[in-house]
Amino acid sequence: MNTMPTDARMMMAIRVIVVTTLLLVTLIIQYTVTEILPINYLYLVAGLTYLLTLTYIALGRLIRSREINLLIQIGGDLLVETLLVYFTGGLDSPFSFLYLVSIIAASMLLYRRGGLLAASGAVILYGLLGDLMYYGILPLPEQTWFIPTPWTSSRLYFNMATNFAGFYATALLTSLISEKLQKTFKELDANRQNLAELRALNQNVIESIPSGLITISTYGSASFINPAGCQILQTQAHEVLGRHVTELAFFTVEEWSEVREALDGGALVRREKEVDVPGGRRTIGFALTPLRTLDGKASGYTLIFQDLTEMKKLEGEIRLKDRMAAVGELSAGIAHEIRNPLAAIAGSVQVLKNSKALTPQEERLMSIVLKESERLNKTIADFLRFVRPQEKRAAEFDVAASLSETLDLLANSPELQKHEIRREIEPPSFHIVGDADQIRQVFWNLVRNAVQAMPEGGVMTVRTEVEAETYRIVFADSGRGMSRGELQRLFQPFRTSFPSGTGLGMAICYRIVQEHGGSIEVQSWQGGGTAVTVVLPATVSEQGARPLPAARF
Ligand code: ADP
Ligand code: MG
Repeated sequence: MNTMPTDARMMMAIRVIVVTTLLLVTLIIQYTVTEILPINYLYLVAGLTYLLTLTYIALGRLIRSREINLLIQIGGDLLVETLLVYFTGGLDSPFSFLYLVSIIAASMLLYRRGGLLAASGAVILYGLLGDLMYYGILPLPEQTWFIPTPWTSSRLYFNMATNFAGFYATALLTSLISEKLQKTFKELDANRQNLAELRALNQNVIESIPSGLITISTYGSASFINPAGCQILQTQAHEVLGRHVTELAFFTVEEWSEVREALDGGALVRREKEVDVPGGRRTIGFALTPLRTLDGKASGYTLIFQDLTEMKKLEGEIRLKDRMAAVGELSAGIAHEIRNPLAAIAGSVQVLKNSKALTPQEERLMSIVLKESERLNKTIADFLRFVRPQEKRAAEFDVAASLSETLDLLANSPELQKHEIRREIEPPSFHIVGDADQIRQVFWNLVRNAVQAMPEGGVMTVRTEVEAETYRIVFADSGRGMSRGELQRLFQPFRTSFPSGTGLGMAICYRIVQEHGGSIEVQSWQGGGTAVTVVLPATVSEQGARPLPAARF
């Protein structure tokens, strides 16, 4: 394995390539021109370079330091260059510029220290060579095509001085630039890293917030949507991107132009809207703010939204509970006050009716009084059951069997004429813990409502299924259905539109199911039918078993 650093290896490769190219070019010239060039020294220089390269490789295996490797190579280069200068005329040689190449390489790779070291090396070698040749200690090489010119001492020193100044100036300037460059690279790297981290953070925040986020361009087209946004709208990003905001269920064209005006005036727009998404109708709350670039230029809008459907449902339930509690408390007192005198009236009339001296007319009137007071008593009994339910006697029972019994009972009811009852009871037996009598009453109220909603006849389907430890029972009828308003008031006591109704059935169902830890969901299409779904857990949780506040008086 070669452990030499990359730049040291690169330097070797470049050197070998340059020398080899030089050699090849010279050889080509040699054989194409008639004049024989005195180039033996070139073979020597090239050979030495190859030899040194092998030495560098060997040293590279021994020495790990990048700096030392590079310094050795630069030292070798300076030696080879001195040799070349010697062969090409010494102080007259045109190749003394090659020192500069080595000094530049050293300054770039090893900065100021390396540059100055290389410059000093060049000064020593070049100075030594110049002096030795000037004083005739080193004879001129045999083979040379440079005719040596006679040198005066002042020319020698001038030549030396300019060259030395050039070497140091090059070393200082190049290292200065490369040090600056290195610093800039480092800073750039750090900035790039910071930017990447910031981007990742932004991305993470946007991807993981539970709210939906859409950015909108100044022209109104969606330019981004986060995963939560796609989930809330039950859509894919590619179906939203590029579409105009008025096609995205939040605004109509008129609303959008009005909203834009408000936004451009600096206002924050907050709204709620019912939106149809593939999974059904959802209530979505959203806020729209202008989006600005760092320098304050308008660059579009951000739309942040949340699915409020569950919250609204919960709010509705709480409101209903409150209302039922208030109504219940007030009217339970009144009902009680009516019941006692009613019992006295009915009792007295019963006694009077038994007297012998009555005309048939009087007897008929008294019968009416008795019948009506009985009906009134029943309504009050129903009502009191609602506001003050009997103690729940919980035991394990077969809820599917109770349902079948209720339907058998209904099948024998005189109310049933052109009605068809479909049973899809699956599984046919399922045990839950609860008050069987109360649950049976829930079933009875619901099936009677379904039948009463179809006075002209129709189909009632009772379908059940087990889902996650709960028993779901759907009572679907093809009756007249309910309007939105009726649906909202469905569980309120005394709201009735059935001829003999009291308006208490659903309120009682609600309370009983609630006390069993279950829930009732109603879907209705006006003129198209109603589906009431009762969900009962197999075992009652502590919370579900707690009676409603309205029951405590
Ligand atoms: P009641 O049956 O005594 O009227 P409920 O509480 O059972 O009282 O029902 C209240 C009202 O809700 C009914 O009068 C009727 O207007 C409406 N309703 C209940 N169930 C249905 C249904 N299956 N289809 C249509 N309307 C219904
Ligand atoms: Mg009813």
